[in-house]
Amino acid sequence: MKYIDEVDLKGKRVLFRFDYNVPLDAMQNITDDTRIRATLPTINYALDEGAKVIIISHLGRPKGQVKPELSLAPVAKRLSRLLQKEVKFVGDCIGEEVKGQVASMKPGDVVLLENLRFHPEEEKNDEGFARELASLADVYVDDAFGNAHRRHASNVAITKYVPVSVGGFLMKKELNYFRRIMENPVRPLVAIIGGSKVSGKIEALVNLIKKVDKMIIGGGMAFTFLKAQGYEVGRSLVEDDLIPHALEVMKTAQQLRVKFYLPVDCVMAEKMSPDAETKIVPIQEMNSHWMGLDIGPATITLFTEALANAKTIVWNGPMGVFEIDAFSRGTSALAHSVANSYAMTVVGGGDTDVAIHRAGESDKITYISTGGGAFLELLEGKELPGIAALEACDRGDA
Ligand code: AMP
Repeated sequence: MKYIDEVDLKGKRVLFRFDYNVPLDAMQNITDDTRIRATLPTINYALDEGAKVIIISHLGRPKGQVKPELSLAPVAKRLSRLLQKEVKFVGDCIGEEVKGQVASMKPGDVVLLENLRFHPEEEKNDEGFARELASLADVYVDDAFGNAHRRHASNVAITKYVPVSVGGFLMKKELNYFRRIMENPVRPLVAIIGGSKVSGKIEALVNLIKKVDKMIIGGGMAFTFLKAQGYEVGRSLVEDDLIPHALEVMKTAQQLRVKFYLPVDCVMAEKMSPDAETKIVPIQEMNSHWMGLDIGPATITLFTEALANAKTIVWNGPMGVFEIDAFSRGTSALAHSVANSYAMTVVGGGDTDVAIHRAGESDKITYISTGGGAFLELLEGKELPGIAALEACDRGDA
């Protein structure tokens, strides 16, 4: 794939696809602008090169309808503040007004267009819609790593209709870190996989088990593995239909001599609520009527020891219901262990980055991915449509 620093931008209309899917509160205030900040190196580079900067993005799930509460207008304001220059906001992403605004741009101008997903054609990878977007650009730069696992008009079909398609610096950073951990990692390589369900992560588990030296399992999904081993897990989250898959993963681990770690104790509670009665029990002593909602202190010690000689760590998914304080200890303790390890550490997946921020350890993690679903699909070993499209352009077969 080619990147933005390999093409000429001077005086060109450069169309940037970013992932500005930022969280908003009820008053449409941006509560976390990490995704906007992550695009600044790409924008500043283009401005320095004398480009006209036109930006497109999606926000939320308006399902093809205009939803004022999902307007990108607040993003334009925040971006303007971060860039310290005017960012003109246009109330649509295609049509005559957009064309007029783009036609009047001078090098160094920045324009942000309205939410792509207000048009149903975006998510249908519609060729006509893609052609409309492409008509705005001499050069197309895809820097929306968080959207790369989608096959949408603004990141796949569009590449057929613009003269030049390249990746931005965020895309480059994300893919470089991923390759460093998965293609030629410094070993031992340890994967920590948590989160709610085995079903959401099974493909990642099957792919990773063949690549890692150690696999650590926490979160709700651990209980399916524990039940597969014959333990009583009470009312913990269990997917019975995935027990055969869990057994298969453990068998592969044994065959490949991958060290496989499951919780040895957990925080059990009567119900999933902040005021629930809780107790810490060894896995052998779980009762039949409570549920396991976090890993316990013995597990934290075990997992921390397993990380001690790691040279590379990849982490996706919390160790417990970390949104509730009473069940967040395991995840934050593990965040400290990962942060203080001597390994290169790469963390990804929506909730995991939140947990790391909450633990105050973001600065000590080598790289926190900006893509949730996209990062998980890379862990699954899948080819991402957005990346495949850019690679096809580089080969000349788009
Ligand atoms: P995922 O999106 O699959 O990474 O799952 C993240 C969610 O898993 C978080 O919202 C956690 O609350 C939830 N989770 C983690 N551990 C447990 C558990 N033991 N029981 C139920 N849910 C859990």
